Amino acid sequence: MNTDTPEALSPEARTKTVPLSSGPAGPSLDTVLNRTRAAFAATRAATPADRARWLTALADALDAAHTTLVPVAQKESHLPETRLTGELRRTTFQLRLFAERLVSGALDDVRIDHADPDWPMGPRPDIRRTTVPLGPVLVFAASNFPFAFSVAGGDTASALAAGCSVVVKAHPGHPELSRLTVTTARAALDEAGAPTDLLQLIEGEQSGVNAVRDHRIKAVGFTGSTPGGRYLFDQAAARRDPIPFYGELGSTNPVVVTSAGWAERSEEITSGFAGSLTLGSGQFCTQPGVVFVPDADAFLAALPAMSAGPMLNGRIDAGYAQSLDDLASRDGVDVAHRTPGGEGEPDVVLLRTSAGAVQSDPSLIATEVFGPASLLVAYRSLDEVEAALAGFEGTLTGTVQAGGPDDADGLRMLGLLARYAGRVIWNEWPTGVTVSDAQQHGGPWPASTAPTTTSVGTAAIQRFRRPVAFQNVPAAALPPELREP
Ligand code: NAP
Repeated sequence: MNTDTPEALSPEARTKTVPLSSGPAGPSLDTVLNRTRAAFAATRAATPADRARWLTALADALDAAHTTLVPVAQKESHLPETRLTGELRRTTFQLRLFAERLVSGALDDVRIDHADPDWPMGPRPDIRRTTVPLGPVLVFAASNFPFAFSVAGGDTASALAAGCSVVVKAHPGHPELSRLTVTTARAALDEAGAPTDLLQLIEGEQSGVNAVRDHRIKAVGFTGSTPGGRYLFDQAAARRDPIPFYGELGSTNPVVVTSAGWAERSEEITSGFAGSLTLGSGQFCTQPGVVFVPDADAFLAALPAMSAGPMLNGRIDAGYAQSLDDLASRDGVDVAHRTPGGEGEPDVVLLRTSAGAVQSDPSLIATEVFGPASLLVAYRSLDEVEAALAGFEGTLTGTVQAGGPDDADGLRMLGLLARYAGRVIWNEWPTGVTVSDAQQHGGPWPASTAPTTTSVGTAAIQRFRRPVAFQNVPAAALPPELREP
């Protein structure tokens, strides 16, 4: 089966799109799912160059619409204009990066074994392995990235690059922006000759659940909370035909400050921490939520003034207050610092505990508080840190704040954190996830439901393609990337 053959798109596939979104007044879910199946069938005829053209057109249209999109995003998310402008730039960069890599062939995952009569386990036939798109993909948008993890965000970019059609479940935190983005995107895709309904939008919690359960959806990309992701993952797994569910979930992103790091870089560490903690009002999945420190009192005394802007919405604000209270009331935890927020702004809070308390209750460092709060864990030795982390499961990131490159304690902690984290960081901070070829954004449960994959960077494309090996197949019947000159 060759899904990437350079046949022309059928005229039906190029029929003009009616610019609609499936909101309360949009088409039924059944119609949306039939349309995405038809769009996927039409997409099979597209080449990587076709898909690159669609992605570039999408990026151009979003950039051109920034003066309309950003104010709506600002109104719905309460995030500042500069942040949203930067996020939109990141989103269109991401679309163009996939386009560029599609054209260069850099994203092909190809292995070729020529026939070998002397292969040690017995004569070997010609085997050539590549990947093909999975089918229609359902994408759950997150609240905290109205552009980069929403309608035209990373999951959509990688699924379209992979050759899939996409249905986005809008996040209720930015409904107007979601509708505006999908209308802009559909017009651009249409103009670029993409199949009708390549990208659609659905709204409503139950629609999302029903779509996960529907046989026409072949994979799910989810960015959001651990409980929400787990529920939907279970729905996907419980299907008669279980499908891959790529959930990027919550995380506590532990940081270990070594003694040498503290002795040599205390000011740099506390100012860097304060910036990373309060960036986006702490509403980043990579926010440093747990910090192991050799001297908690000195760390607290060295902190600069901190403040945070308004939270994304009332639900997240209430969730922040609730999870903070819950963690603060646990045995061995106290509130060590609180900067009261102004009108409509959250308090910035540091809780404090000890490595010994974490050994008794490992859940202390696994509890995400989504907002500008962090848990300081005072330790007396690195053996204590290692023992405290023994009960830990998974995290998106792990950071070491060390002295120089020879800091043996830092090197030891980096090796330890790599057991739990999708990305380990030396003397920098986990917030600010660049989009590149080597990027890894994921990690063992509960950071994600799929620790072997990434949701950021060009490697994300592989989530939406599956391997197929072609054995003893004539060259004319091979996908282009498997043919040899
Ligand atoms: P959320 O509340 O889990 O919502 C995400 C999406 O999932 C929404 O569309 C929501 O729909 C849907 N959903 C959640 N639970 C559901 C359920 N039981 N049934 C049906 N649909 C359900 O998360 P959020 O408010 O967007 O974001 C906050 C969380 O996202 C934080 O924990 C943060 O760490 C995490 N996050 C992770 C990453 C990452 O890359 N790992 C990035 C950003 C954010 P409805 O609202 O309509 O119910």
